[in-house]
Amino acid sequence: MGDGSQPSVGSSRRATKGAASSSSPTNPRPEVERGWWSGSLAMRSCSHWTWDCFALVIGNEQSSSRPNVSEQESEPPNEGNGSKRRKRDGRIPLERFGWKYLSVTNLSQQAWCEQQVVYGMELPHIQQLREEVPVVRAGSCLHLARELEVHDIVPINVESREDSWAVKILNLLSMIPFLQAGEHVRELPVFGELEGILVVGVVDELRYNSKGELELRELKTRRQRTFPSAAQKKSHHLQVSIYKLLFEAMIKGQLNKDVLTQHLHLQTEQPLGSEVLVHAHKVGFTVNTFGDLLDLMLLNLTYAEILDVDTMTIEYCHQADASVIGTEVVPFEEEWVKSELKHYCSFWKGQREAKGVDIEEAWKCRYCDFADICQWRQSKSEEATQKNRANQSK
Ligand code: SF4
Repeated sequence: MGDGSQPSVGSSRRATKGAASSSSPTNPRPEVERGWWSGSLAMRSCSHWTWDCFALVIGNEQSSSRPNVSEQESEPPNEGNGSKRRKRDGRIPLERFGWKYLSVTNLSQQAWCEQQVVYGMELPHIQQLREEVPVVRAGSCLHLARELEVHDIVPINVESREDSWAVKILNLLSMIPFLQAGEHVRELPVFGELEGILVVGVVDELRYNSKGELELRELKTRRQRTFPSAAQKKSHHLQVSIYKLLFEAMIKGQLNKDVLTQHLHLQTEQPLGSEVLVHAHKVGFTVNTFGDLLDLMLLNLTYAEILDVDTMTIEYCHQADASVIGTEVVPFEEEWVKSELKHYCSFWKGQREAKGVDIEEAWKCRYCDFADICQWRQSKSEEATQKNRANQSK
């Protein structure tokens, strides 16, 4: 899954909910009023929703730390030692890997071990082997099962990179009326610029809880029937907090069209492919080009009047039988999230070298696929040996 060349389109089983639409997205109504998208002009009943192709993008997000490679400049080079390579060619890591954006997963995994993320990019074949492990597949299946509770997945052909993004946007647009109606949505695409880098993610679920608060939920599967360690929780907390930041910036109209097109090198005048157009028209969107759809998305997000996320919850499930281990409510600590983001993004912008784990967290290396080749681990081990020798000779 996940290269974007054969994405999939889903059809909602919830049926007969209207989708936001525009009579002429290239000429959006300037005097947009509350709820204009749900008026007679915009509201259309349709039993076939385009939940589509982001199913593939989701698969990529959830099963891998690597963004959708086909949308990047090139396959990540197999370099062996990232820091040496950076010094040689002068490119920052983001450029060196040929990537236009980072996934939220990349950033949250940096909280576990940044060097591991880098190795995962430099040596993707090792990580791909890991993705074939049955327990990892079981986690992906559980996510997919939840997703299929609310919509089907149907393949759709895309003809350009603009089409791939158009499908994500169509899915996002389709979810807005559900949120406005107080219903829950799953696999909601979020994106935006953080620390000068485009960051892309998929929120597992947004729903309203019994208090009427908007709740962002993330599903985590566990091999053991226990809660994760504090170190894993830190990574999970960062992940949901970044989702909240991205989502709220989107609904506050802070998403900038130029940011998307410039980071992704997409052409607004690119006509949408035939299958994408068919689906867009089926759900009531009168669009022709990628730029039309971007305008429509920005208008809908800005005027959707969806409230901020009140609560963030992580649900831990056992992989073997999908039983719930427990849930954790995550406090949103804005200063902490922003400072973590600044730190992690500084690596991608070439402002510092990648870091492995500190000696106190060396236990993480026992579970790492790259332990045998990790230069960080080797240098820390040599440092420790030298220190011991020095202590003994005193
Ligand atoms: Fe990080 Fe340890 Fe793995 Fe190296 S061996 S990448 S320091 S977890």
